[in-house]
Amino acid sequence: MSVEICPKCGTENVTKAAWCEKCLHMFHEYGENKTIFCPECKHENAYKDSYCEACHEPLKPGQWE
Ligand SMILES: [Zn+2]
Ligand SMILES: [Zn+2]
Repeated sequence: MSVEICPKCGTENVTKAAWCEKCLHMFHEYGENKTIFCPECKHENAYKDSYCEACHEPLKPGQWE
């Protein structure tokens, strides 16, 4: 079984995970051209953004598409 070490927080994740389960850092270019909507203000952000660029609400990839 192979794991992927998160370059950001060092957590071991299963290789097929698209982002770190702990800090939500994106591993690959998955979602590169996708957008994610802010749960607060509905502003459309880049999928890999961690925070809404309009209201700075934390964004969680995969939860709002
Ligand atoms: Zn991490
Ligand atoms: Zn927002």
